[in-house]
Order: sequence, then structure tokens, then C-alpha cells
Amino acid sequence: MANSDCIFCKIIKGEIPSTRVYEDDICIAFNDLHPQAPRHILIIPREHFDSLDRVDEGRKEMLGHLLVTGARIARDLGFSERGYRVVINTNEDGGQTVFHLHVHLLAGRQFIFPPG
Ligand code: AMP
Ligand code: ZN
Repeated sequence: MANSDCIFCKIIKGEIPSTRVYEDDICIAFNDLHPQAPRHILIIPREHFDSLDRVDEGRKEMLGHLLVTGARIARDLGFSERGYRVVINTNEDGGQTVFHLHVHLLAGRQFIFPPG
């Protein structure tokens, strides 16, 4: 169920523009508006979940799909061999700012760990 106030639901509906790099029945992937690396893609489910914390046990297939799709995008765009980072910021301490579940796929530079 789309959340009418959610910017990512609006992106899914095409009410806010985005540069899509991939889409299927379950998710869409698009370039982050404020990239933190040379490649910065967001993968989001078409269904609205406020955060990872709000995904129940019955949605493991959807969650797995987001990760497998990220790996596939990395291969298709040619940055899987050098490597990449996958991040799911969750709730306030996790640094989440948009409350529609999303997977960050970052690549094109060396990342440090742990992140700040
Ligand atoms: P987070 O801080 O994990 O919630 O990440 C939210 C991400 O959404 C940030 O990296 C923002 O740059 C990105 N973002 C916010 N609005 C848009 C938009 N309209 N199009 C693409 N990315 C966006
Ligand atoms: Zn949403």
C-alpha cells in the first residue's frame, strides 16, 4: 500500500522524477540524488515499508530479492569485481532519513569500515 506522503512511493508512481537503472515486479533501482560515491544506487521495494525494522518474517523473499538484485546490478554495470558496499540505514541511530525501506548500493571508491 503506497504511503501518500512518501517521496519514494512518489518515485515509484512517477510523480517525482528519478533515473532508473533497473525495475521489476518487486523493486525499482535508481540513482541517489546526492551520491556519496561515484556510483550510488538505491534499491527499493514497490511495497511501502517504513524501515527494515517494519519488515516481518514473512517477507524474507522480498528482502533477499533486494540484495540479489543489487548484486546483479553491480555485475551488469561492471563494478562487481572491484567491489561495492551495501547499506540499509535503519531508524534514527542508523541514520535513516527517508522512511521507505531502501538498500544503498555504493561503488567506485574505497570505503572505510566501520562507517562513521
Ligand atoms: P537514508 O539516509 O538511508 O534514509 O537515505 C536516503 C537517501 O535518499 C539519501 O541518500 C538521499 O540522497 C536519497 N534521496 C532523497 N530524495 C531523493 C530523490 N528524490 N531521488 C533520489 N534519491 C533521493
Ligand atoms: Zn513509500
